[in-house]
Amino acid sequence: MGELLVGQKALVTGASSGIGYGIARAMADAGAAVAINYHSERDEAEELAETIRTAGGEAIALKADVSKEEEVERLFGQSIANFGTLDILVANAGIQKDAPLAEMSLADWRKVLEVNLGGQFLCAKRAVAEFLRRGSVPEVSRATGKIICISSVHDVIPWAGHINYAASKGGIQMMMKSLAQEVAHHRIRVNAIAPGAIRTAINRAAWSTSKAEQKLLKLIPYGRVGEVEDVAKAAVWLASDEADYITGTTLYIDGGMMLYPGFRDNG
Ligand code: NAD
Repeated sequence: MGELLVGQKALVTGASSGIGYGIARAMADAGAAVAINYHSERDEAEELAETIRTAGGEAIALKADVSKEEEVERLFGQSIANFGTLDILVANAGIQKDAPLAEMSLADWRKVLEVNLGGQFLCAKRAVAEFLRRGSVPEVSRATGKIICISSVHDVIPWAGHINYAASKGGIQMMMKSLAQEVAHHRIRVNAIAPGAIRTAINRAAWSTSKAEQKLLKLIPYGRVGEVEDVAKAAVWLASDEADYITGTTLYIDGGMMLYPGFRDNG
């Protein structure tokens, strides 16, 4: 990805695995210094930071639960103390706690909303505060700051048995757009990336056997399950000045999952 993010400081939440891990790595490859937030997988986060440093980049692993305000405050404090400022937030941390409505506990409803939506709110709030404190630095980036919210195709596609998750992602869409509207005059860009089915731990059951994968592929016109790199490369571009005129939009990275493939032979 060359030089797209040279001189920029990025913070990626939930970056000890999956999509966040891939984005942190790709942003480091593109020249950014990266704060790798993790919740429980300390070793994986430290190893990624070490890999980036060994390759000549800058990285630090930082523990925090994004749903807790005091931990988010500490996370941003440590990241900014270490790198001097912040240019890019990737709000990626997310969980699923699936059950049909009748069996879904209030605790599991709340937990998914608190991590997936509340966590993005807390991190976006802290990131915007830092962007405004520091102001524009045109030699580093045309934008005063960039936020990428990791959403899902389930910000639009209903998902039975996952109403807490779908509600959190639908909420991210309007939070992202409303915030983009609120801060665009400061030249802060706020966008979302909505992945389809990407091969990570969160959906292992959907691809780990060939029977499950065949069933999943019926939903993906492009005919393959997505890989973390498919999302990571787009995140680097969206955070870079190459995408400077883009704000308030959602980029679907889904091999056509949003094209309602079930309708193809039913015209
Ligand atoms: P993953 O389980 O590998 O990643 C989720 C990460 O979030 C983990 O590293 C986990 O430790 C972290 N996390 C969980 N709770 C946290 C908390 N309270 N504080 C900080 N970190 C926390 O799965 P993934 O697929 O890489 O998911 C990343 C994001 O992508 C999620 O928001 C998910 O909803 C979204 N997404 C994934 C897919 C997919 O197909 N894999 C599709 C659409 C959206």
